[in-house]
Amino acid sequence: MDPMDLSIVVPVYNEEESVEPLIRELLSALDPLGKSYEIILVDDGSSDGTYTILSRLHQSERRITVLRFKRNFGQTAAIAAGLAHARGDVVIALDGDGQNDPRDIPALLSKLDEGYDLVSGWRFPREDAFWSRRLPSTIANRVISWMTQVKLHDSGCTLKALRREVAKDLKLYGDMHRFIPAIAYERGARITEMKVHHRPRRWGTSKYGIARTLRVILDLLTVKFLLSYATRPLHIFGLVGIASGAAGFLLGVYLTVQKLFYFEEIGGRPLLLLAVLLIFIGFQFITMGLLGEMLARTYHESQNKPTYVIKEILGGGESR
Ligand code: UDP
Ligand code: MG
Repeated sequence: MDPMDLSIVVPVYNEEESVEPLIRELLSALDPLGKSYEIILVDDGSSDGTYTILSRLHQSERRITVLRFKRNFGQTAAIAAGLAHARGDVVIALDGDGQNDPRDIPALLSKLDEGYDLVSGWRFPREDAFWSRRLPSTIANRVISWMTQVKLHDSGCTLKALRREVAKDLKLYGDMHRFIPAIAYERGARITEMKVHHRPRRWGTSKYGIARTLRVILDLLTVKFLLSYATRPLHIFGLVGIASGAAGFLLGVYLTVQKLFYFEEIGGRPLLLLAVLLIFIGFQFITMGLLGEMLARTYHESQNKPTYVIKEILGGGESR
């Protein structure tokens, strides 16, 4: 595998008008840098003429690699495939519809050289409709930075630059490309953001509607859980379990006292039902946490994946 400076990863899905102008812009932004690079276009199962155009572009420019999916797997999968195939020391991802501007790439690279592992784009000002895109996106970004503790203004921006080690370390599912910074941060990467240009879509249509917001929230739940508790599930499930079980137990004690010392009838009381329910739920949560602990061990030990990330090792001899 020959070494290479840059890999550009572009997910494309039914963007027949956009790809060619975008490639021209990419080439004219990249050539002056004097770096070796490849452009990886991932055709996410397009049903229009996108693939024909991509294969023609590949014929005329050997630095262009085309990956064609068998069907539409989604933007996250397309980005993941591009990252997996990338050979460059630095990987840059951007949208295939031309909304991201390739002329931002040099600035992203110099930002990365300031000592970061990932520079995430912040589309500003954002050229999308207000009610259906910008507003939900602002709210989602607030919630995401609050929950993940990674303070970014725009996690939905595909345009970003990351070092190869970071790119290869990512495992992406669902619609999780927007959580790349949060996932990388959890693995110890140094993260920053940078304002980038954003342009209105000139051709084709957006592949997403308002329903995306809901999926983002659900993905956020997964990410939050995995980032905080993947290696210690019992800490969260056990906590909820103990709280619920203890509440149920106390209610049970109260009802028992009523019955034994005050001779009250407790058989028909809703409180009894609640106490039993809480104790049950408590046991279930704890069992779920224990199962989670087993899964965590299977996950890490089956693939020899440590639960930590080492930055450097000084010394230790040859045996390493
Ligand atoms: N995309 C993709 N697969 C999909 C949906 C989108 O590869 O299933 C690509 C699309 O071609 C574009 C990028 O992801 O290059 C962003 O999509 P879009 O412009 O529709 O999103 P928006 O900018 O509206 O958020
Ligand atoms: Mg777009």
